[in-house]
Amino acid sequence: MIGDGRVAIVTGGGRGIGRAIAVRLAEEGAQVAISYRSNDAAAGEAAEEVRAAGVRCELFKGDVAEPDDVKALFDGVNEAFGRVDILVNNAGVTRDNLMMRMKEDEFDEVLRTNLKGTYLCTRAAMRPMVRARWGRILNVSSVVGLVGNAGQANYAASKAGIIGFTKSVAREVAQRGITANVVAPGYVETELTGGLPDNIKDQIRAQVPIGRFGAAGEVAEVVAFLAGEGAGYVTGQTLAVDGGMTMQ
Ligand code: NDP
Repeated sequence: MIGDGRVAIVTGGGRGIGRAIAVRLAEEGAQVAISYRSNDAAAGEAAEEVRAAGVRCELFKGDVAEPDDVKALFDGVNEAFGRVDILVNNAGVTRDNLMMRMKEDEFDEVLRTNLKGTYLCTRAAMRPMVRARWGRILNVSSVVGLVGNAGQANYAASKAGIIGFTKSVAREVAQRGITANVVAPGYVETELTGGLPDNIKDQIRAQVPIGRFGAAGEVAEVVAFLAGEGAGYVTGQTLAVDGGMTMQ
């Protein structure tokens, strides 16, 4: 159990993997703040699912890569809950294109959301965590950040960047009761991957030893473990949740 009235912020918690993480943390007893960018209906549903677990949930709309929005998120969480114990940097986007055709705005948008968003939210969460001498930072990367993927050089750069970023943060706060870890999902059934053509999905499945896509709940399970009291001696690690795809 996480329990103890701990407060978790899950960015991109309105849909997909983030929603599953928000619900799973709630089942462990955490109160949850969900940040999302634009889809009010999805965020509303996510909040209802979290509240059904019997905990408090508040919604915060904004862009994780906009400093003013991130300030508003953390001010709002502080006002509503008075603490931040767990931060899950999950918000992420893709803008796929082969390298020779990749436009600057496709590169910038992905780096901005995935990497700068993670930096801004982590920086904002560290002060209350340092004060409390307890914290859990979980950053959602991807197997693409470990092994690359044709058509996703921007995404791979952002997700590999998250891994180096997390290790550096983990070292900075290691003696203050705060851990920082990465979860790197393989292919998980969400709206992000729902649009892939069937032949690409078949090719992906063929590369997964377990032989299927993952479920958002299977990523959430690992996040819940790393966010818990019992994972206090695990830091700076990258845990792939990928059906064995990147085993070495
Ligand atoms: P979805 O597209 O299903 O959901 C993305 C969520 O992030 C939404 O809630 C969205 O808000 C939010 N979001 C996007 N941009 C911003 C922003 N700038 N500011 C605030 N919130 C934002 O994605 P997934 O659930 O599939 O992916 C979640 C994470 O997992 C991402 O980091 C992704 O890269 C990673 N991942 C996913 C894999 C997969 O197979 N699905 C595999 C490996 C990694 P809104 O709902 O308002 O649009």
